[in-house]
Amino acid sequence: MDKRIDGFSKLSKEEKIDWITRTHFKNSTAAASLLSSYWNSDPSLQTQHDEFIENTLTNFYMPLGVAPNFLINKSLFTLPMVIEESSVVAAAGNAAKFWLNKGGFKAEVIDTLKGGQVHFLYKGNPELLYAFFKKIKKPLINVTSELTQKMELRGGGIVSLDLVSKTTALPNYYQLDVRFKTADAMGANFINSCLESLATAFENLAAKETFFMKKEASIEILMSILSNYVPECLVKASVSCSVDEIEHQEGISGKKFAEKIVQAVAIASCETFRAVTHNKGIMNGVDALIIATGNDFRAIEAGVHAYAARNGQYTSLSKASIIDDQFTMELILPLALGTVGGLTKLHPMVGWSMELLGNPDAKKLMQIVAVAGLAQNFAALRSLVTSGIQKGHMKMHLFNILNQLGAKPVQKEAALNYFKKNMVSVKAVSDFLHSNET
Ligand code: NAD
Repeated sequence: MDKRIDGFSKLSKEEKIDWITRTHFKNSTAAASLLSSYWNSDPSLQTQHDEFIENTLTNFYMPLGVAPNFLINKSLFTLPMVIEESSVVAAAGNAAKFWLNKGGFKAEVIDTLKGGQVHFLYKGNPELLYAFFKKIKKPLINVTSELTQKMELRGGGIVSLDLVSKTTALPNYYQLDVRFKTADAMGANFINSCLESLATAFENLAAKETFFMKKEASIEILMSILSNYVPECLVKASVSCSVDEIEHQEGISGKKFAEKIVQAVAIASCETFRAVTHNKGIMNGVDALIIATGNDFRAIEAGVHAYAARNGQYTSLSKASIIDDQFTMELILPLALGTVGGLTKLHPMVGWSMELLGNPDAKKLMQIVAVAGLAQNFAALRSLVTSGIQKGHMKMHLFNILNQLGAKPVQKEAALNYFKKNMVSVKAVSDFLHSNET
């Protein structure tokens, strides 16, 4: 069967499914019926989902769980979490419970600046370029006024516009570097629209100057795009308590437990192999909330990891200390989030998640997401420095193993009971099922 096709996107959904299943699957009827079994029973809701992207065939489920008891800046929250990894929601709930009677989490937005660049090439005299930029800077900003007018009323808009030479990194490479505030939107489309109109105006204004008309001194715009690196769009989450307040953890005193966490964070701060996994744990909490609230997890992931490497070495995003017997953990994250725009007002489950969170604005959502990251970090470190990560993880993974091995409901119940006290592994579960066949 020929696997090439022209004009696939122009086919109807039924035609697409028919072609896909006939071309790629042994049992095309079964493959097609699996797709349709995941359609929403409400056709208008399904159409809404179909229209989110191109070539939609069906929906792809992820579990949405909730983690209650999050005390954040003295208010209680239940967090919606969309994630496939078994132990994440339970870990979040445990961390929330741990800090609930110790003052809870604190969170504050440090700043909300985002940026983008018009990237261009110029081979001429830099002084002439800088002089030209100085002359046209104001008219250039004015060109975007139609785009920025409403954003300015919301407290956003263009914050700065600079000409930056990057010629030491790459010959003839310059940028118009623009910083924005985008209120409650992530702002990708707003920023890109502003940058593109700045680029066009820049080119047009240059075309009127005789100097830039010369071939060897012309301005060549390459691209205009926001940056997902947002080191000035930061939020800080923290927890703190006296070491005396920390209960014994798996036979370890509260003080020793806190010391072990501080040491573990110190290792993640100097050792990349550990730092990446340490930060992955943080992102377990962050991504789960980002997806539940309809935000762009690729943008957040890219920006966060770049931030973790901002000083030239990839390092821990969180910090931990004990000063005068006060144990503190802190996490600063770059988070360009939106509570309007993108999918946020279109996906019904995003609406549900937002309502669960009390319909936060973007700044409040940044705080909640940073707290989810810190909670997840604490929960992972708590397991790592006490019982080890596998005990809790495999307990939560037990259901997946049981389902994979085709356990019947009665066997599942017996297994849950048995593995309360026994080590979970695929072999141990398989052996248990064989000796408990019904
Ligand atoms: P959007 O395009 O849906 O626009 C949001 C708009 O909502 C604003 O421009 C504004 O006009 C309006 N608005 C109404 N009330 C507002 C308020 N209180 N505060 C701010 N704006 C308000 O969304 P967006 O935020 O511009 O872009 C986000 C989308 O862009 C996401 O879906 C993302 O995946 C996508 N995207 C991302 C990238 C990237 O990250 N590199 C690039 C392109 C597109």
